[in-house]
Formats: sequence, C-alpha cells, structure tokens
Amino acid sequence: MILESLTLEHYEKIDSYIPVNLLSFTGFIIAFAVVLSFILVRYFLMVGGAYSVYWKNKPFSLPGFILHDKSLPTEQIKNEIKWSLVSSFIFAFSGVFLGLLWQAGFTQFYVKFDQYGLWYLPLSFFLYTLVHEFYFYFTHVWMHKPSIYSKVHAVHHASVKISPWASFSFHPLEAIVHAAFLPVMVLWLPIHPLVVICYLTFMTITAISNHLGVEVIPFEWARKLFISGEHHSKHHRKMKINYGLYYTFIDRIMGTEAHNNNTNNQLSNMGKSYE
Ligand SMILES: [Zn+2]
Ligand SMILES: [Zn+2]
Repeated sequence: MILESLTLEHYEKIDSYIPVNLLSFTGFIIAFAVVLSFILVRYFLMVGGAYSVYWKNKPFSLPGFILHDKSLPTEQIKNEIKWSLVSSFIFAFSGVFLGLLWQAGFTQFYVKFDQYGLWYLPLSFFLYTLVHEFYFYFTHVWMHKPSIYSKVHAVHHASVKISPWASFSFHPLEAIVHAAFLPVMVLWLPIHPLVVICYLTFMTITAISNHLGVEVIPFEWARKLFISGEHHSKHHRKMKINYGLYYTFIDRIMGTEAHNNNTNNQLSNMGKSYE
C-alpha cells in the first residue's frame, strides 16, 4: 500500500483520492471527519508554526520587516481561533462536497496526468489562480458594502493588527463565499486532483503570508506584482484599498491599490530591519 502510493499510477485512480462512497451517509460522515481533522491539524501546525517563528521565537526568526509592533491582545487571538474553527467546518464540508461532485460525475477532474498534455498541469494551476483573483477581488469589494460589511466582513477586519491567527478568521457566510470557489471551478475547468492538492496548499501558505504581519518578500519588483504581507496588512488598517488575493493587477486597474513607499525604502534593508 505504502509502496504503491509511491508510484505515479497510484495518482491516476479516483479511489486513491476517495476510498469511500460519498453518496452514502456513512461514507460522507467518515470522509467529513477525516477532512476536518486534516484541516484542523494543518491549521494549528501551519498557523501556529508561523506565529511561533515570526512572533514568538525571535532567535529563530527569519528575515523580514515587521509591519507593526508585536503585542497582540490575547482576546483577539482567542476570537480569531474561534472563527477559524467555524471556518474549518465549512472548508471541510466544501472539500467533501468537491469529492461528492467528482464521484457523481459532475466535475472536470481528470486522473491521467497526460490527458491534456503535461504542460496543462502547471497551466491549470495558473488559470485557477487567475480566475480566483477575479472572484476574490469582486466578492471582497462586495463584502465592503456597508450593509454586508457590518454583518459579515467586519469579523475578519476585527483583526486590525494582523498575525497568522487572522488568516482564516471569517464570519461563516464569508467562509462559504471562499469555500464555494473550488466546487464551482471544477464543474467547468479541467484540473488534476494532485494539482488541486497543490493549489489548496498554496492557498494556505499565501493566506498565512498575507496575514503574517511581517513582510517577507525581499524584492520590490515582486511586491509590485504579487500580494504580500505589507499589501494586505494595509487593507486591514485602511479598508477601501488593496482588495487583491495573489496578484496586484486588478487593484491597479481598478485604482484601489496603495503601496507604502516608506515600507519599500525600509524593505531595502531587509534582514537588518527585523526588530
Ligand atoms: Zn485579511
Ligand atoms: Zn476586507
């Protein structure tokens, strides 16, 4: 079994990804429990790990520019963890629902690596990031409408001074908006399940880096093209700017981007300025 999982053929079978029948109630509950446990372990390992490395253990800290002082009210962290746990249930449901759609034959998942050519594996990843950027930007702007903001998005913005604990701290309705993206995408844009796994990992890493409260991208050209800690930290503090997820281009086209030139200057001393 373990040896088999090391072969490429193993990843070209749907049963390798979903070993239970999700159309049965028991199968669905088992899968939900497994996916939820995985999401919770991932949350505490990755978010807790990032917090520990960047906020707690200064001797082990990596180079980066701190975007605000490092004191966080305990109450804020408790609230962020509480909302993140609620989000985890919604993300777990979305993950199992994704599998259910696949088993029921509604998705464009494919399992043969070369079905669309090997080049399509990275291309599909890139296309998903691009569509996700549009989806995230416009749903995010919508969530800043005063009536929606006060009921829903204010939960995420309660974290003005951000740390990794804010990465998944959403009102359940906002978590549903985020969790709906992949189940809708797989209905029409072909993707290999291993690429989806890579994409979910990428989503987690970028969510944490955007909420790190520390700028870790050392290159100014990269910070101009991609969303980073500084870009998103500014959104949490000033609200009606910097709505993007991965790329800055929609913010630039829509006239909602604001960069901090001071930060750019200070970041040129990256490594020396970690204090
Ligand atoms: Zn945020
Ligand atoms: Zn916002």
